[in-house]
Amino acid sequence: MNLKNGECRGPLIDCTEEAALKYALLERFVRYAKIWTSSDPGRAETPTSAGQWELARLLQAEFAALGIDSELSGHCYLIARIPSNLPPGIPVPETTGFLAHLDTSGDVPGKDVKPVVVDNYDGRPIVLRDGVTIEPAADAVGKTIVHADGTTLLGADDKAGIAAIVSAAAFLVSRDDIKHGPLELIFTPDEETGRGLPEFPREKVKSTVCFTLDGGAGGELEIECFNAYGVDVTFTGSAIHPGAARGILVNAALMAAHFAVMLPRTESPEATDGRYGFYCLMDSSGSHESARQKIIVRDFLRSGIERRLAALESFARAVEAAFPGGRVVVDAKPSYYNMKEVIESRPEILTRIEEAAGAAGVDLRFKPVRGGTDGARLAEMGIPTPNIFTGGRNFHSRSEWLLLEDLLAACRLTIQLAASHRQALKKDAS
Ligand SMILES: [Zn+2]
Repeated sequence: MNLKNGECRGPLIDCTEEAALKYALLERFVRYAKIWTSSDPGRAETPTSAGQWELARLLQAEFAALGIDSELSGHCYLIARIPSNLPPGIPVPETTGFLAHLDTSGDVPGKDVKPVVVDNYDGRPIVLRDGVTIEPAADAVGKTIVHADGTTLLGADDKAGIAAIVSAAAFLVSRDDIKHGPLELIFTPDEETGRGLPEFPREKVKSTVCFTLDGGAGGELEIECFNAYGVDVTFTGSAIHPGAARGILVNAALMAAHFAVMLPRTESPEATDGRYGFYCLMDSSGSHESARQKIIVRDFLRSGIERRLAALESFARAVEAAFPGGRVVVDAKPSYYNMKEVIESRPEILTRIEEAAGAAGVDLRFKPVRGGTDGARLAEMGIPTPNIFTGGRNFHSRSEWLLLEDLLAACRLTIQLAASHRQALKKDAS
């Protein structure tokens, strides 16, 4: 390793260290996976489950044992800080954050997770309890995979991310020769319910760039997500006894049905993938007098959202024309925006990722997220936040599994990113 202007260049981890890191990752992941941290969308408080506190307190104790200071907030946000160890005279670069979420999805049982470790996987389907079958990808053959027993999810989403961040932190504090700027390790509750980030302690976070470790297969990097709008459509009709309704009744429930069939089937979630956006009817209810629908609109481009919102207005006018006396009101509100704009406003971040990936031996693949991420919300708060893979697959299912070698690559990339601050130095120097 060589040091230039305080920056570490080239791979930071040798073979012996890599073997130790792999073992540490597996040990941490299995220990975290056994803690029941399913979030509960039915509860209003943050966090929505007690297990998230248990995991946060365990991490806090682990950081204390490593000599890393941390702070646990009232809503179960854990922030650990590693100060810069750059020599005096070198400008301190911006604070870099690494972020993972404490909860696991409540869609699948998450209590009593029993992780099973398969070394030197032979490539054949793995049949678990209740007939749950895992058919791992060809890239897993000869490697180490971890899965649950078929009765629960595994929780690699996002305990693999937590294991990568804690293991990277433990490695960095053991190696003072690896120079880095100030680091923040942030663990958030209730990502899966969407309840977490509204309570995000923005004032406590010093990071001006963050990386979430909450992605899937090895090498995947997400810098782009949907723009999202939620639309409430209200239909107002005119009710009267059906026996005396001729020429008088304006049936709001029927207006709503007409509106729904005007949504283009070719632009539905079930008809689209990749970079194509959609309309999706989420809920429809009502009677003669009034009816309402909830529709979500998604697109990677703002122009795609605007086109669909304008189309919804024109469908509304068409329904009013077909039901004289009826009224249709379309009320659209943004839910989140594509984080790409904020990330691209800082092009040096992508350079930093690409250089770190090169040094860590990781082949990156950019993948657009057909949904929202914590990164999108952090981008709205002005913190560009790309999402890094963790090696987990089949998230939110009983067939969820983790490829340990991919998790190791994610951890190597985290270490390399922590130690890469040349761009920040350049910026400070200018
Ligand atoms: Zn996740």
